[in-house]
Amino acid sequence: MIAAAPPVLDQGCASAPVLRERGQREVFCGLTGIVWLHRKMPDAFFLVVGSRTCAHLLQSAAGVMIFAEPRFATAIIEERDLAGLADANEELDRVVRRLLARRPEIRTLFLVGSCPSEVIKLDLARAAQRLAGAFLPDVRIVNYSGSGIETTFTQGEDACLASLVPFMPEAAAGAEPELLIVGALPDIVEDQLLRLVRDLGIARVACLPARESRALPSVGPNTRFLLAQPFLGDTAQALEDRGAVHLSAPFPFGAEGTTDWLHAAARAFGIDEMHFRSVVAPGRERAKRALEHSRAQLEGKRIFFLPDSQLELPLARFLHRELGMVPVEVGTPYLHRAHMAPELAQLPEATVISEGQDVDRQLDRVRASRPDITVCGLGLANPLEAEGFTTKWAIELVFSPIHGFDQAGDLAELFARPIRRRDVLRV
Ligand code: SF4
Repeated sequence: MIAAAPPVLDQGCASAPVLRERGQREVFCGLTGIVWLHRKMPDAFFLVVGSRTCAHLLQSAAGVMIFAEPRFATAIIEERDLAGLADANEELDRVVRRLLARRPEIRTLFLVGSCPSEVIKLDLARAAQRLAGAFLPDVRIVNYSGSGIETTFTQGEDACLASLVPFMPEAAAGAEPELLIVGALPDIVEDQLLRLVRDLGIARVACLPARESRALPSVGPNTRFLLAQPFLGDTAQALEDRGAVHLSAPFPFGAEGTTDWLHAAARAFGIDEMHFRSVVAPGRERAKRALEHSRAQLEGKRIFFLPDSQLELPLARFLHRELGMVPVEVGTPYLHRAHMAPELAQLPEATVISEGQDVDRQLDRVRASRPDITVCGLGLANPLEAEGFTTKWAIELVFSPIHGFDQAGDLAELFARPIRRRDVLRV
């Protein structure tokens, strides 16, 4: 008798080799996270301790927002401060006291480290502790680093959220299981996802960050958490260190991604399969219909992602699985193998997965492979357009609402639009 060969499971890129590159990089530092984090936590203030360069970065990244009442600022380290650290500490305390006296509505103050504060070894963790005593319980003072030495772009959010985990209250022993959704989402998207989770029958659900920065959810061994964003490695680790359990899932992009993400929660909370299907069906169908609009532009098109936000792998999976695009190379600033396993398994085997950057070599690969669309930062987009490449600015993917069923169509449109524009302008 001939034994049937075991079925070959399609592993996609699950065990594919990763091209690791280190060299010249074209990425933001983690300070940029402040631009969306301060909107998510309206009672928090972000005080960057850095140089004029850091202030300029925030000013250009935040654009018009700096004209509204700002909830972020830079305490600029002057040359005088470099002369003696003792003075720098005193100066910082003075700036904080003045700020908090002037802005009594602030409930959480983040002291955000930068390259200069790190290089001169200004101990902001100590400063946060020193100042905490004077302002608790009205204001909580927390510290994290958004420096370019330690963080790339969205990793600033990871560092910020991880810094909040120690302040989360301990969940009572034997408490009912609770679901925690981790990652800053626009309020409208968060509301949609919370509604779906509650409709599934999971009543105890909370978010990190919380909209009221002082009302942090509790955490403990009965916490099950879903990551809403792919760049939260340190936050996940900090939650696990407090006993919480990570629910592995693809990220909630597109009809399938959002279904699978919700499914992970449904399984962990013992939700009946039929009930699960009936709750997700309307949103899933809506999302699928919305995607049709962009399919004509995207199907069969080849896409190249330069590293930027760590959203690259989940987005490549979404574009491949749900719109038939062909990923050529998917670059990410940092690859968290465990968190990305469900994404990697769904990418076609021929995809090059790269981590880190040597920008000139990567641009050579862009030129050699001639993709239909290249996703990259603002610094590279126009030069590539001038060479005849169609590009998509990666930063828009971080600032636009793109998660969940109701944003799936808009997300596909972000990629379809540059291709459509190119076709319209082509003579
Ligand atoms: S933190 Fe570092 S990389 Fe970011 S703006 Fe300041 S000096 Fe530049």
